[in-house]
Amino acid sequence: MPNGQVSESDDPVIHALQRALQAAEIRFVRILWCDNANVIRGKAVHVAALESLRHGVGITVAQQALPVMYDAVAPGSGLEPVGEALLAPDWSTFTVLPYVPNHAQVLADMMLDDAPWEHCPRDFLKQQVARLADHRLSLQVAFENEFTLLRRDDDSLVPVETSVYAATLAMNESVEVINAIADALLAQGLEPVRYHPESGPGQQELSVRPAGALEAADRQLQFRETVRGIAARHGLTASFLPKIFENAAGNGCHLNLSLWRGGENLSGDPASTSGLSAEAAAFIAGTLEHLPALAALTLGSCNSYRRLQAHAWAGAFRCWGHGNREAAVRVSLDGGPADGRFEVKTADATGNPYLALGSVLAAGLDGLERGLELPAEVTGDPGNLTEAERTRLGIDLLPSTQGEALAALEANDVLLAALGPARARAYRAVKRMEWEALEDAGLDDEVELLLERY
Ligand code: GLU
Ligand code: MG
Repeated sequence: MPNGQVSESDDPVIHALQRALQAAEIRFVRILWCDNANVIRGKAVHVAALESLRHGVGITVAQQALPVMYDAVAPGSGLEPVGEALLAPDWSTFTVLPYVPNHAQVLADMMLDDAPWEHCPRDFLKQQVARLADHRLSLQVAFENEFTLLRRDDDSLVPVETSVYAATLAMNESVEVINAIADALLAQGLEPVRYHPESGPGQQELSVRPAGALEAADRQLQFRETVRGIAARHGLTASFLPKIFENAAGNGCHLNLSLWRGGENLSGDPASTSGLSAEAAAFIAGTLEHLPALAALTLGSCNSYRRLQAHAWAGAFRCWGHGNREAAVRVSLDGGPADGRFEVKTADATGNPYLALGSVLAAGLDGLERGLELPAEVTGDPGNLTEAERTRLGIDLLPSTQGEALAALEANDVLLAALGPARARAYRAVKRMEWEALEDAGLDDEVELLLERY
Protein backbone atom coordinates (compact mmCIF):
# COMPACT_ATOMS: atom_id res chain seq x y z
CA MET A 1 0.00 0.00 0.00
CA PRO A 2 1.65 3.28 -1.15
CA ASN A 3 0.60 5.26 1.91
CA GLY A 4 1.60 2.51 4.32
CA GLN A 5 -0.20 1.57 7.49
CA VAL A 6 -1.92 4.27 9.50
CA SER A 7 -2.92 4.05 13.12
CA GLU A 8 -6.50 2.87 13.29
CA SER A 9 -9.24 4.84 14.97
CA ASP A 10 -11.33 3.09 17.61
CA ASP A 11 -14.45 4.93 16.34
CA PRO A 12 -16.15 2.38 14.04
CA VAL A 13 -17.39 5.01 11.53
CA ILE A 14 -14.01 6.70 11.25
CA HIS A 15 -12.31 3.32 11.15
CA ALA A 16 -14.51 2.25 8.21
CA LEU A 17 -13.80 5.54 6.46
CA GLN A 18 -10.06 5.12 7.02
CA ARG A 19 -10.18 1.64 5.50
CA ALA A 20 -12.12 2.86 2.45
CA LEU A 21 -9.82 5.82 1.93
CA GLN A 22 -6.73 3.67 2.25
CA ALA A 23 -8.16 1.24 -0.29
CA ALA A 24 -8.64 4.18 -2.67
CA GLU A 25 -5.05 5.28 -1.93
CA ILE A 26 -6.20 8.61 -0.51
CA ARG A 27 -3.59 10.36 1.62
CA PHE A 28 -5.32 13.66 2.39
CA VAL A 29 -8.95 14.73 2.75
CA ARG A 30 -9.43 18.41 1.97
CA ILE A 31 -12.01 20.21 4.09
CA LEU A 32 -13.36 23.06 1.95
CA TRP A 33 -15.14 26.31 2.65
CA CYS A 34 -15.99 29.34 0.54
CA ASP A 35 -15.54 32.74 2.18
CA ASN A 36 -17.24 36.10 1.79
CA ALA A 37 -14.76 37.03 -0.96
CA ASN A 38 -15.83 33.81 -2.76
CA VAL A 39 -12.36 32.32 -2.53
CA ILE A 40 -12.56 28.54 -2.14
CA ARG A 41 -10.17 27.50 0.61
CA GLY A 42 -9.29 24.19 2.17
CA LYS A 43 -7.36 22.53 4.94
CA ALA A 44 -6.25 18.96 4.40
CA VAL A 45 -6.26 16.23 7.03
CA HIS A 46 -4.09 13.16 6.57
CA VAL A 47 -5.87 9.80 6.64
CA ALA A 48 -3.71 8.85 9.63
CA ALA A 49 -5.19 11.78 11.55
CA LEU A 50 -8.79 11.27 10.50
CA GLU A 51 -9.72 10.82 14.14
CA SER A 52 -9.24 14.58 14.60
CA LEU A 53 -12.15 15.24 12.22
CA ARG A 54 -14.56 14.05 14.89
CA HIS A 55 -14.18 17.47 16.47
CA GLY A 56 -13.97 19.42 13.20
CA VAL A 57 -11.10 21.52 11.89
CA GLY A 58 -10.43 24.91 13.46
CA ILE A 59 -10.29 28.14 11.46
CA THR A 60 -9.83 31.60 12.87
CA VAL A 61 -13.08 33.56 12.84
CA ALA A 62 -11.18 36.23 10.88
CA GLN A 63 -11.40 33.95 7.81
CA GLN A 64 -14.82 35.47 7.13
CA ALA A 65 -13.28 38.95 7.09
CA LEU A 66 -10.70 38.43 4.34
CA PRO A 67 -10.98 40.34 1.05
CA VAL A 68 -10.02 38.87 -2.31
CA MET A 69 -6.77 40.86 -2.66
CA TYR A 70 -4.72 39.53 0.27
CA ASP A 71 -5.06 37.95 3.71
CA ALA A 72 -5.83 40.96 5.92
CA VAL A 73 -8.81 41.47 8.18
CA ALA A 74 -11.41 43.90 6.79
CA PRO A 75 -11.99 46.82 9.18
CA GLY A 76 -15.56 47.10 10.45
CA SER A 77 -16.26 43.39 9.86
CA GLY A 78 -16.87 42.75 13.56
CA LEU A 79 -14.31 39.95 13.34
CA GLU A 80 -10.79 39.81 14.71
CA PRO A 81 -7.96 37.30 14.61
CA VAL A 82 -9.11 36.09 18.02
CA GLY A 83 -11.33 33.04 18.42
CA GLU A 84 -11.97 29.89 16.41
CA ALA A 85 -14.87 28.48 14.43
CA LEU A 86 -14.96 24.80 13.45
CA LEU A 87 -15.31 23.31 9.98
CA ALA A 88 -17.63 20.33 10.27
CA PRO A 89 -17.53 18.06 7.20
CA ASP A 90 -20.83 17.23 5.52
CA TRP A 91 -19.98 13.71 4.37
CA SER A 92 -22.78 13.70 1.80
CA THR A 93 -20.51 16.02 -0.27
CA PHE A 94 -17.45 13.75 -0.14
CA THR A 95 -15.68 13.14 -3.47
CA VAL A 96 -12.37 11.65 -4.52
CA LEU A 97 -10.64 14.29 -6.65
CA PRO A 98 -10.01 13.18 -10.23
CA TYR A 99 -7.64 16.06 -11.02
CA VAL A 100 -4.99 15.64 -8.33
CA PRO A 101 -3.44 12.41 -7.09
CA ASN A 102 -4.41 10.85 -3.75
CA HIS A 103 -6.58 13.67 -2.42
CA ALA A 104 -10.29 13.61 -1.59
CA GLN A 105 -12.55 16.50 -0.65
CA VAL A 106 -15.50 17.24 1.55
CA LEU A 107 -17.44 20.48 1.96
CA ALA A 108 -17.95 21.85 5.44
CA ASP A 109 -20.37 23.79 7.59
CA MET A 110 -18.98 26.41 9.95
CA MET A 111 -19.87 25.71 13.58
CA LEU A 112 -19.43 27.53 16.87
CA ASP A 113 -20.31 26.02 20.25
CA ASP A 114 -21.98 23.01 18.58
CA ALA A 115 -24.38 25.18 16.58
CA PRO A 116 -24.17 26.66 13.08
CA TRP A 117 -22.00 29.78 13.24
CA GLU A 118 -23.88 32.98 12.45
CA HIS A 119 -21.35 33.72 9.66
CA CYS A 120 -21.68 30.39 7.85
CA PRO A 121 -22.70 30.99 4.20
CA ARG A 122 -23.93 27.41 3.78
CA ASP A 123 -26.18 27.74 6.80
CA PHE A 124 -27.61 30.98 5.35
CA LEU A 125 -28.74 29.06 2.25
CA LYS A 126 -30.16 26.25 4.42
CA GLN A 127 -32.21 28.84 6.32
CA GLN A 128 -33.70 30.27 3.13
CA VAL A 129 -34.46 26.78 1.80
CA ALA A 130 -36.30 26.06 5.09
CA ARG A 131 -38.29 29.31 4.77
CA LEU A 132 -39.34 28.29 1.26
CA ALA A 133 -40.30 24.86 2.57
CA ASP A 134 -42.69 26.62 5.00
CA HIS A 135 -44.60 27.61 1.87
CA ARG A 136 -44.45 23.95 0.79
CA LEU A 137 -42.16 25.02 -2.05
CA SER A 138 -38.66 24.13 -3.19
CA LEU A 139 -36.32 25.18 -5.96
CA GLN A 140 -34.46 23.18 -8.54
CA VAL A 141 -31.32 25.06 -9.50
CA ALA A 142 -28.53 24.95 -12.05
CA PHE A 143 -25.61 27.38 -12.01
CA GLU A 144 -24.93 27.94 -15.73
CA ASN A 145 -21.25 28.70 -15.84
CA GLU A 146 -19.29 30.32 -18.61
CA PHE A 147 -15.51 30.33 -18.31
CA THR A 148 -12.42 31.19 -20.33
CA LEU A 149 -9.55 28.86 -21.19
CA LEU A 150 -6.14 30.48 -21.55
CA ARG A 151 -2.65 29.22 -22.25
CA ARG A 152 0.68 30.71 -21.30
CA ASP A 153 2.51 32.37 -24.16
CA ASP A 154 5.90 33.72 -22.99
CA ASP A 155 4.95 35.91 -20.05
CA SER A 156 1.29 36.41 -20.77
CA LEU A 157 -1.89 34.34 -20.76
CA VAL A 158 -3.69 34.22 -24.10
CA PRO A 159 -7.05 32.63 -24.98
CA VAL A 160 -6.85 29.12 -26.46
CA GLU A 161 -8.70 30.31 -29.58
CA THR A 162 -10.45 33.38 -30.91
CA SER A 163 -13.43 31.93 -32.76
CA VAL A 164 -17.13 32.75 -32.50
CA TYR A 165 -20.25 31.35 -30.76
CA ALA A 166 -20.63 27.55 -30.96
CA ALA A 167 -17.85 27.29 -33.56
CA THR A 168 -17.03 23.63 -34.14
CA LEU A 169 -13.41 24.65 -34.70
CA ALA A 170 -13.30 25.88 -31.10
CA MET A 171 -14.80 22.54 -29.99
CA ASN A 172 -11.96 20.73 -31.72
CA GLU A 173 -9.37 23.03 -30.20
CA SER A 174 -10.45 22.28 -26.61
CA VAL A 175 -11.76 18.73 -27.05
CA GLU A 176 -9.25 17.02 -24.73
CA VAL A 177 -9.70 19.39 -21.82
CA ILE A 178 -13.50 19.57 -22.15
CA ASN A 179 -13.77 15.76 -22.33
CA ALA A 180 -11.57 15.46 -19.26
CA ILE A 181 -13.67 18.04 -17.37
CA ALA A 182 -16.86 16.15 -18.28
CA ASP A 183 -15.36 12.84 -17.10
CA ALA A 184 -14.17 14.39 -13.84
CA LEU A 185 -17.56 16.00 -13.16
CA LEU A 186 -19.34 12.71 -13.79
CA ALA A 187 -16.93 10.85 -11.53
CA GLN A 188 -18.00 13.22 -8.73
CA GLY A 189 -21.74 12.82 -9.40
CA LEU A 190 -22.26 16.02 -11.41
CA GLU A 191 -23.94 15.06 -14.67
CA PRO A 192 -22.84 17.21 -17.61
CA VAL A 193 -25.76 18.17 -19.87
CA ARG A 194 -24.73 20.52 -22.68
CA TYR A 195 -21.51 22.04 -23.94
CA HIS A 196 -20.72 24.72 -26.49
CA PRO A 197 -17.88 27.12 -27.11
CA GLU A 198 -19.19 30.58 -26.22
CA SER A 199 -18.86 33.83 -28.08
CA GLY A 200 -15.74 35.26 -26.42
CA PRO A 201 -12.09 34.24 -27.02
CA GLY A 202 -11.42 30.88 -25.36
CA GLN A 203 -14.89 31.05 -23.78
CA GLN A 204 -16.80 27.85 -22.94
CA GLU A 205 -20.17 26.94 -21.47
CA LEU A 206 -20.81 23.55 -19.89
CA SER A 207 -24.01 22.91 -17.98
CA VAL A 208 -24.76 20.27 -15.36
CA ARG A 209 -28.07 18.77 -14.32
CA PRO A 210 -30.15 20.86 -11.88
CA ALA A 211 -30.41 19.86 -8.23
CA GLY A 212 -32.02 21.13 -5.03
CA ALA A 213 -30.74 24.55 -3.93
CA LEU A 214 -28.18 23.41 -1.35
CA GLU A 215 -26.84 20.62 -3.53
CA ALA A 216 -26.63 22.98 -6.52
CA ALA A 217 -24.54 25.48 -4.52
CA ASP A 218 -22.30 22.65 -3.29
CA ARG A 219 -21.91 21.53 -6.90
CA GLN A 220 -20.92 25.05 -7.87
CA LEU A 221 -17.86 24.73 -5.61
CA GLN A 222 -17.12 21.28 -7.02
CA PHE A 223 -17.61 22.56 -10.58
CA ARG A 224 -15.24 25.52 -10.18
CA GLU A 225 -12.61 23.34 -8.51
CA THR A 226 -12.88 20.69 -11.21
CA VAL A 227 -12.72 23.04 -14.19
CA ARG A 228 -9.68 24.83 -12.81
CA GLY A 229 -8.04 21.61 -11.63
CA ILE A 230 -8.44 19.78 -14.94
CA ALA A 231 -7.39 22.83 -16.96
CA ALA A 232 -4.18 23.02 -14.90
CA ARG A 233 -3.48 19.32 -15.65
CA HIS A 234 -3.68 20.28 -19.32
CA GLY A 235 -1.25 23.17 -18.91
CA LEU A 236 -4.10 25.70 -19.16
CA THR A 237 -5.64 28.34 -16.93
CA ALA A 238 -9.41 28.39 -16.58
CA SER A 239 -10.99 31.59 -15.28
CA PHE A 240 -14.55 32.48 -14.33
CA LEU A 241 -13.70 36.20 -14.12
CA PRO A 242 -16.71 38.01 -15.66
CA LYS A 243 -14.88 40.41 -17.95
CA ILE A 244 -11.41 39.55 -19.21
CA PHE A 245 -11.46 41.19 -22.65
CA GLU A 246 -12.85 44.71 -23.08
CA ASN A 247 -14.61 44.11 -26.38
CA ALA A 248 -15.76 40.51 -26.06
CA ALA A 249 -18.57 38.68 -24.30
CA GLY A 250 -18.21 38.26 -20.54
CA ASN A 251 -18.51 35.17 -18.35
CA GLY A 252 -21.95 34.96 -16.77
CA CYS A 253 -23.26 32.37 -14.37
CA HIS A 254 -27.00 32.51 -14.88
CA LEU A 255 -29.07 31.04 -12.08
CA ASN A 256 -31.51 28.67 -13.74
CA LEU A 257 -34.43 28.13 -11.37
CA SER A 258 -37.73 26.26 -11.24
CA LEU A 259 -40.24 26.30 -8.41
CA TRP A 260 -41.64 22.97 -7.21
CA ARG A 261 -44.38 21.76 -4.90
CA GLY A 262 -44.01 18.09 -4.09
CA GLY A 263 -43.12 16.35 -7.32
CA GLU A 264 -44.71 19.02 -9.50
CA ASN A 265 -42.99 21.84 -11.37
CA LEU A 266 -45.01 24.90 -10.40
CA SER A 267 -43.24 27.46 -12.58
CA GLY A 268 -45.72 27.73 -15.45
CA ASP A 269 -49.51 28.01 -15.57
CA PRO A 270 -50.92 27.95 -19.12
CA ALA A 271 -54.18 29.49 -17.80
CA SER A 272 -52.53 32.71 -16.55
CA THR A 273 -51.87 35.77 -18.74
CA SER A 274 -48.17 35.80 -17.90
CA GLY A 275 -47.89 32.05 -18.46
CA LEU A 276 -46.43 31.81 -14.93
CA SER A 277 -48.04 30.34 -11.81
CA ALA A 278 -49.05 32.84 -9.12
CA GLU A 279 -46.18 31.58 -6.94
CA ALA A 280 -43.53 31.90 -9.67
CA ALA A 281 -44.85 35.35 -10.68
CA ALA A 282 -44.61 36.60 -7.08
CA PHE A 283 -41.17 35.01 -6.63
CA ILE A 284 -39.87 36.72 -9.80
CA ALA A 285 -41.50 40.01 -8.75
CA GLY A 286 -39.57 39.82 -5.47
CA THR A 287 -36.35 39.06 -7.32
CA LEU A 288 -36.86 42.10 -9.58
CA GLU A 289 -37.82 44.35 -6.68
CA HIS A 290 -34.56 43.60 -4.86
CA LEU A 291 -32.30 43.20 -7.89
CA PRO A 292 -30.09 46.31 -7.39
CA ALA A 293 -29.23 45.17 -3.85
CA LEU A 294 -29.09 41.51 -4.86
CA ALA A 295 -26.39 42.48 -7.34
CA ALA A 296 -24.03 43.09 -4.40
CA LEU A 297 -24.25 39.31 -3.77
CA THR A 298 -24.82 37.79 -7.23
CA LEU A 299 -22.18 40.01 -8.89
CA GLY A 300 -19.39 39.65 -6.38
CA SER A 301 -16.51 41.69 -7.77
CA CYS A 302 -15.81 45.15 -9.13
CA ASN A 303 -15.05 43.42 -12.44
CA SER A 304 -18.63 42.05 -12.58
CA TYR A 305 -20.06 45.43 -13.49
CA ARG A 306 -17.99 45.65 -16.68
CA ARG A 307 -19.96 42.63 -17.96
CA LEU A 308 -23.32 44.19 -17.18
CA GLN A 309 -23.84 46.02 -20.46
CA ALA A 310 -26.70 46.40 -22.93
CA HIS A 311 -26.61 44.04 -25.94
CA ALA A 312 -24.32 41.61 -24.10
CA TRP A 313 -27.06 39.13 -22.99
CA ALA A 314 -25.93 39.76 -19.45
CA GLY A 315 -29.18 40.82 -17.72
CA ALA A 316 -28.30 44.53 -17.49
CA PHE A 317 -31.95 45.72 -17.38
CA ARG A 318 -34.33 45.26 -14.49
CA CYS A 319 -37.24 43.55 -16.29
CA TRP A 320 -38.45 40.11 -17.34
CA GLY A 321 -39.60 38.51 -20.58
CA HIS A 322 -40.32 35.17 -22.23
CA GLY A 323 -37.16 34.06 -24.00
CA ASN A 324 -35.75 37.59 -23.56
CA ARG A 325 -31.97 37.30 -23.33
CA GLU A 326 -31.55 41.00 -22.52
CA ALA A 327 -33.89 40.91 -19.52
CA ALA A 328 -32.55 40.30 -16.01
CA VAL A 329 -35.03 37.43 -15.71
CA ARG A 330 -35.63 35.28 -18.78
CA VAL A 331 -38.67 33.03 -18.49
CA SER A 332 -38.62 29.79 -20.44
CA LEU A 333 -41.88 27.84 -20.67
CA ASP A 334 -41.44 26.47 -24.19
CA GLY A 335 -40.69 22.95 -23.00
CA GLY A 336 -44.19 22.64 -21.43
CA PRO A 337 -45.28 22.90 -17.76
CA ALA A 338 -43.02 20.12 -16.50
CA ASP A 339 -39.96 21.91 -17.87
CA GLY A 340 -40.89 25.51 -16.94
CA ARG A 341 -38.04 27.61 -15.54
CA PHE A 342 -36.74 31.12 -15.17
CA GLU A 343 -33.22 32.37 -15.26
CA VAL A 344 -31.63 35.20 -13.30
CA LYS A 345 -28.97 36.49 -15.68
CA THR A 346 -27.68 39.26 -13.41
CA ALA A 347 -25.24 36.82 -11.82
CA ASP A 348 -21.71 35.58 -12.33
CA ALA A 349 -19.35 33.15 -10.64
CA THR A 350 -17.63 35.79 -8.46
CA GLY A 351 -20.49 35.68 -5.94
CA ASN A 352 -20.28 33.15 -3.11
CA PRO A 353 -22.86 30.62 -4.39
CA TYR A 354 -24.48 30.08 -0.98
CA LEU A 355 -24.87 33.81 -0.37
CA ALA A 356 -25.93 34.60 -3.95
CA LEU A 357 -28.54 31.85 -4.20
CA GLY A 358 -29.72 32.33 -0.60
CA SER A 359 -30.27 36.03 -1.31
CA VAL A 360 -32.24 35.29 -4.47
CA LEU A 361 -34.42 33.00 -2.34
CA ALA A 362 -34.84 35.73 0.29
CA ALA A 363 -35.89 38.20 -2.41
CA GLY A 364 -38.28 35.68 -3.99
CA LEU A 365 -39.73 34.85 -0.57
CA ASP A 366 -40.38 38.54 0.03
CA GLY A 367 -42.30 38.59 -3.26
CA LEU A 368 -44.33 35.54 -2.18
CA GLU A 369 -45.00 36.78 1.34
CA ARG A 370 -46.08 40.27 0.23
CA GLY A 371 -47.94 38.96 -2.84
CA LEU A 372 -45.94 41.28 -5.12
CA GLU A 373 -47.30 41.75 -8.64
CA LEU A 374 -45.12 41.11 -11.63
CA PRO A 375 -44.68 44.19 -13.88
CA ALA A 376 -45.61 43.87 -17.56
CA GLU A 377 -43.45 41.58 -19.67
CA VAL A 378 -40.83 43.24 -21.88
CA THR A 379 -41.06 41.69 -25.33
CA GLY A 380 -38.21 43.42 -27.19
CA ASP A 381 -34.58 44.28 -26.48
CA PRO A 382 -34.73 46.90 -23.70
CA GLY A 383 -31.38 48.20 -24.95
CA ASN A 384 -33.10 49.35 -28.16
CA LEU A 385 -35.68 51.46 -26.33
CA THR A 386 -35.14 55.14 -25.68
CA GLU A 387 -34.52 56.30 -22.13
CA ALA A 388 -38.05 57.77 -22.10
CA GLU A 389 -39.63 54.47 -23.25
CA ARG A 390 -37.72 52.57 -20.59
CA THR A 391 -38.87 54.98 -17.91
CA ARG A 392 -42.48 54.61 -19.09
CA LEU A 393 -42.18 50.80 -18.82
CA GLY A 394 -40.46 51.04 -15.43
CA ILE A 395 -37.23 49.41 -16.64
CA ASP A 396 -34.08 50.60 -14.88
CA LEU A 397 -30.49 49.89 -15.66
CA LEU A 398 -28.89 47.99 -12.80
CA PRO A 399 -25.97 49.33 -10.69
CA SER A 400 -23.04 50.21 -12.89
CA THR A 401 -20.43 49.75 -10.14
CA GLN A 402 -19.88 47.53 -7.13
CA GLY A 403 -20.03 50.71 -5.02
CA GLU A 404 -23.61 51.41 -6.21
CA ALA A 405 -24.66 47.82 -5.58
CA LEU A 406 -23.23 47.93 -2.05
CA ALA A 407 -25.10 51.17 -1.36
CA ALA A 408 -28.32 49.45 -2.52
CA LEU A 409 -27.61 46.49 -0.24
CA GLU A 410 -26.92 48.80 2.69
CA ALA A 411 -30.38 50.33 2.21
CA ASN A 412 -32.19 46.99 1.75
CA ASP A 413 -33.74 45.84 5.02
CA VAL A 414 -35.16 42.63 3.56
CA LEU A 415 -31.82 41.24 2.42
CA LEU A 416 -29.94 42.54 5.46
CA ALA A 417 -32.49 40.90 7.79
CA ALA A 418 -32.28 37.60 5.89
CA LEU A 419 -28.47 37.64 6.06
CA GLY A 420 -28.58 38.44 9.77
CA PRO A 421 -26.59 41.26 11.41
CA ALA A 422 -23.24 39.49 11.87
CA ARG A 423 -23.07 37.95 8.40
CA ALA A 424 -24.32 41.13 6.71
CA ARG A 425 -21.78 43.27 8.58
CA ALA A 426 -18.81 41.09 7.69
CA TYR A 427 -19.90 40.69 4.06
CA ARG A 428 -20.37 44.43 3.60
CA ALA A 429 -17.00 45.18 5.23
CA VAL A 430 -15.19 42.69 2.99
CA LYS A 431 -16.85 44.01 -0.17
CA ARG A 432 -16.32 47.67 0.82
CA MET A 433 -12.62 46.93 1.35
CA GLU A 434 -12.45 45.26 -2.08
CA TRP A 435 -14.28 48.16 -3.74
CA GLU A 436 -12.07 50.77 -2.09
CA ALA A 437 -8.93 48.90 -3.17
CA LEU A 438 -10.06 48.39 -6.75
CA GLU A 439 -12.46 51.16 -7.72
CA ASP A 440 -9.79 53.05 -9.66
CA ALA A 441 -8.14 49.97 -11.17
CA GLY A 442 -8.16 49.58 -14.93
CA LEU A 443 -9.27 46.34 -16.59
CA ASP A 444 -5.65 45.13 -16.96
CA ASP A 445 -4.99 45.53 -13.24
CA GLU A 446 -8.23 43.76 -12.35
CA VAL A 447 -7.42 40.88 -14.67
CA GLU A 448 -3.91 40.56 -13.28
CA LEU A 449 -5.19 40.38 -9.70
CA LEU A 450 -8.42 38.44 -10.14
CA LEU A 451 -8.01 36.11 -13.13
CA GLU A 452 -6.61 33.25 -11.06
CA ARG A 453 -8.68 33.99 -7.91
CA TYR A 454 -11.93 33.13 -9.68
N1 GLU B 1 -22.11 35.66 -21.96
C1 GLU B 1 -23.42 36.15 -21.61
C2 GLU B 1 -23.38 36.72 -20.20
O1 GLU B 1 -22.50 37.47 -19.92
C3 GLU B 1 -24.48 35.07 -21.73
C4 GLU B 1 -24.69 34.51 -23.10
C5 GLU B 1 -25.78 33.47 -23.06
O2 GLU B 1 -26.96 33.81 -23.11
O3 GLU B 1 -25.44 32.31 -22.86
O4 GLU B 1 -24.19 36.47 -19.37
MG1 MG C 1 -23.91 31.21 -22.58
